[in-house]
Amino acid sequence: MGIPYVRQLDFEYGRSDQVSPLIRRVICNNPGPFTFLGTGTYIVGRGEVAVIDPGPDDPAHLEAILAATAGEPITHIVITHHHSDHSPLAGPLQARCGAPIYGCAVVGASEDDADIKDGGVKMEAGHDLAFQPDVSLCGGGEVSGPGWTLEAIPTPGHTSNHLCYALPEENACFTGDHIMGWSTTVITPPDGDMTDYLASLNRIRARGFSTLWPTHGPPIRDVDAFIAAYLDHRQERIDQITTALKSGPARIADLVPRLYADVDPKLWPAASRSMLAAMIHLVREGRLAADGETYRLA
Ligand SMILES: [Zn+2]
Repeated sequence: MGIPYVRQLDFEYGRSDQVSPLIRRVICNNPGPFTFLGTGTYIVGRGEVAVIDPGPDDPAHLEAILAATAGEPITHIVITHHHSDHSPLAGPLQARCGAPIYGCAVVGASEDDADIKDGGVKMEAGHDLAFQPDVSLCGGGEVSGPGWTLEAIPTPGHTSNHLCYALPEENACFTGDHIMGWSTTVITPPDGDMTDYLASLNRIRARGFSTLWPTHGPPIRDVDAFIAAYLDHRQERIDQITTALKSGPARIADLVPRLYADVDPKLWPAASRSMLAAMIHLVREGRLAADGETYRLA
């Protein structure tokens, strides 16, 4: 069974759309291979509002967010994770509205990770190493305004500091890059971690949300079936590796051309990073052993 992707979205860059009783969305004009149509910034509430993932440092998008919230104080700036298409506009927005920034600071990402590349191919959006929340929600926690609540749910995996935010008033959840309707998410070690990622998928699934709002693309309405397919997809990739290693030890560089023969070789560097994340997971579980770059069944 494939993942039931959802990619249809009626929008205009910079326009504020009321997408649910409590949620408005403004999309930034930064489409690309990691952002799909662009960064979807969510405005939660009425009167006093929270802004989730203001996006890249883009002056036009900053003005669009301020126009959409004119007359309504922004009381919270809420961040899912520190990638450059999510958090850099938090500072400039704060300079204009004064609201505190909530999220989880990343630890351990080095300057080397600022632009994640492999074989000269960019793997994902860069890290915003300057990201520093005023209030840490690393361990969870709630923020609220009139008629709305946002509950931080730690969901490490895509990044170590990733948070999803439940909106209990609508049994909905803002999933950042943890669960996206248009694509699988990139898990790039060392900040990305497959073991954590699988646990975080189950954590969101267990909550029984009726709608997921990813930062990129349309909402996911058939939540349980979607997450089940997402988990199956990861399991299939993991099973492919253990099956391939039954015929003898191999390096990632040997396995990728075999297991991704039907995929454009341009995507092999990204596939190699995902495979590395899966290898680390399997070694940790005691199912594989590593001798340098060579992996074998344990
Ligand atoms: Zn990201």
